[in-house]
Amino acid sequence: MKPPKKSTKTVYLDYAATTPVDPRVVKAMQPYWTDLFGNPSSLYRLGVESHMAVEKARQFVAGVFSCSPAEIVFTAGGTESINLALFGVARAHKNIHGKKPHIITTQIEHHAVLESVRALALEGYAVTYLRPDSEGFITPEQVASSLRPETILVSVMYANNEIGTIEPITQIGKVIEEANRKRITKGLPVITFHSDACQATGFLDIRPNQLNVDLLSINGSKIYGPKQVGCLYVRKGTKLAPLIYGGGQEKELRSGTENVPGVIGFAKALELQLAIKEKELVRLGILRDYFIDRLLKKVSNIEINGPEIVKNNKVKYLRRLPNNLNIIIDGVEGEALILYLDSYNIAASTGSACSSTNNDPSHVLLAIGRTEEQAKSSVRFSLGKDTDKKKIDYTVNVLHFLTELLRVK
Ligand SMILES: *Cc1c(COP(=O)(O)O)cnc(C)c1O
Repeated sequence: MKPPKKSTKTVYLDYAATTPVDPRVVKAMQPYWTDLFGNPSSLYRLGVESHMAVEKARQFVAGVFSCSPAEIVFTAGGTESINLALFGVARAHKNIHGKKPHIITTQIEHHAVLESVRALALEGYAVTYLRPDSEGFITPEQVASSLRPETILVSVMYANNEIGTIEPITQIGKVIEEANRKRITKGLPVITFHSDACQATGFLDIRPNQLNVDLLSINGSKIYGPKQVGCLYVRKGTKLAPLIYGGGQEKELRSGTENVPGVIGFAKALELQLAIKEKELVRLGILRDYFIDRLLKKVSNIEINGPEIVKNNKVKYLRRLPNNLNIIIDGVEGEALILYLDSYNIAASTGSACSSTNNDPSHVLLAIGRTEEQAKSSVRFSLGKDTDKKKIDYTVNVLHFLTELLRVK
């Protein structure tokens, strides 16, 4: 087979790792670096202007969430929001009737959740890791049957970053709400429900009241906003201890001078994404379906990881992120393929970006029942704003060529 002609431009297919910042976001942030640089806590006009800008952004974000501005805590990104949620709830509940509190999460969470929970387990907190089915789904029944009198926290991600599975958050929230109603009469602690929505923000409904969540983690870097900025939605009345102590900013939950340009950029990114959300959901879903169709026709022995890809949105509820494709290419090593793809100016990844420094097989793929070998032959493509049919056609051709090349070896 003849090698395909190399694209001179980068074909970026790793939007689940991070997104480029939209130029309009950069423009909105610009004045807050140099001209409007005041500390929001200062009393003079320059400070007040910064304060007002942050509060205006907070109001906007609260509008998107359909919540009160007082329920939005700005943080330094998804990982920090998640740490604040998990350690915050844990620190607020040292023990329950003499017993160490219990936390429920899943085997397929992002490392930000898994490593936080692991640290809490080392401190003596009891942890249950729910096992997903072969498509990555957790059921409300699994959550219900794992609840204990000492349970204080349930953390289930909204959409998986590796295989795109969309978890039934609303239904899980309902199960927890029902349990809480009974627990109050028994003098048991109220269970707090957290969801990591970093991958969901760009496509799905993120209103906490629709999702029945108490805590929701969001970041800017997956929605064409700046990195190291995000927010945690904290439902009024949720018991939460801070992670970072100091001047008492962000209602004493996140001290430190506010990242004013970051917050402005995050709000702008949310605004822009909101405007294109539904259109992109359909457009990228069609492109992703086209991608897998073409690939299955050209390359043999490919298997899809994650929820079945159902055409023309023939399902009642979206079960998989529209921009996610994760496949096993039998007989090809994933990491080698990523490097070969890079030589063709295509950026993709093996599972999650955070585990790219070690060669361990993806914990998500193992949890859904894949073997180590299958996991190591898996690659993830995630589509975004700049993805079009031409780029997909090019990628399919390159993949066709590279599979033949690598399989022969
Ligand atoms: C990216 C991501 C995070 C981490 O967010 P950062 O802003 O990089 O700290 C957490 N969870 C999920 C599902 C993600 O995709």
